[in-house]
Amino acid sequence: MIVELKDLIVEYDLGTAPFTAVDIPAWSLARGRQAAIHGPSGCGKSTLLHVVAGLLAPRSGRVRVCGNELTEMSESDLDHFRAAHVGYIFQDFNLLQGYTAVENVLLGMAFSRQKPDRHRARELLDRVGLSHRVKHRPAQLSIGERQRVAIARALARKPELILADEPTGSLDPAHAGEVVNLLREACRQDGCSLIVVSHDPGVVGSFDEAIAFMELNRAFSASGTPRAAAVAAGGVA
Ligand code: ADP
Repeated sequence: MIVELKDLIVEYDLGTAPFTAVDIPAWSLARGRQAAIHGPSGCGKSTLLHVVAGLLAPRSGRVRVCGNELTEMSESDLDHFRAAHVGYIFQDFNLLQGYTAVENVLLGMAFSRQKPDRHRARELLDRVGLSHRVKHRPAQLSIGERQRVAIARALARKPELILADEPTGSLDPAHAGEVVNLLREACRQDGCSLIVVSHDPGVVGSFDEAIAFMELNRAFSASGTPRAAAVAAGGVA
């Protein structure tokens, strides 16, 4: 398994009372598989990705990712874990504006044990259809092209797992399908597992595993988002 979750509870401290955003009894993803997790905004998808990336510690439960038990690791071990094993694609791309496409991909190789590899950076940009844009800065690229640079950067360190948070959130439906297909193919070529979270049902149709997050996350209630449920129960001001 590349990801194994057991009795996972994630809370946010809202000052007055803790608010449970994620409550998952058990979930796992086999190595090399691709999963799409879908659900409306606010249902806890980003929270889950942050926990799987080791960016957010759960209140309780087990989080095993790429063979590491994240809940037993120190902050610096978690930094090394991410650098070695995980590529993260952010909804807003998170590209550095002052750097070209190829430099942004090279920066994706920073903090890893391998040396930055300009040949691989160019090869990745070629794979995402941007060989003619390597020297362009983000402001000179379309939104779809920026997302492709972000995909190339996430693959730069040859991660075992890619986590993509609403990777098509800023794209129109035609480009959304194209970018998801490209991301999936790039992961297949590198033997990398993939978890995409999205509120867009159109994105999830073709995945090996399409998971309705409301069914997985017990913190989600029929009354709406977890926050709405907590407010209804009087737990959140
Ligand atoms: P999604 O990714 O599905 O839109 P999130 O994981 O971002 O959902 O959020 C899940 C719930 O947790 C929401 O109700 C959101 O308001 C709440 N939440 C997210 N981040 C924080 C935070 N840092 N502090 C408090 N509440 C948060």
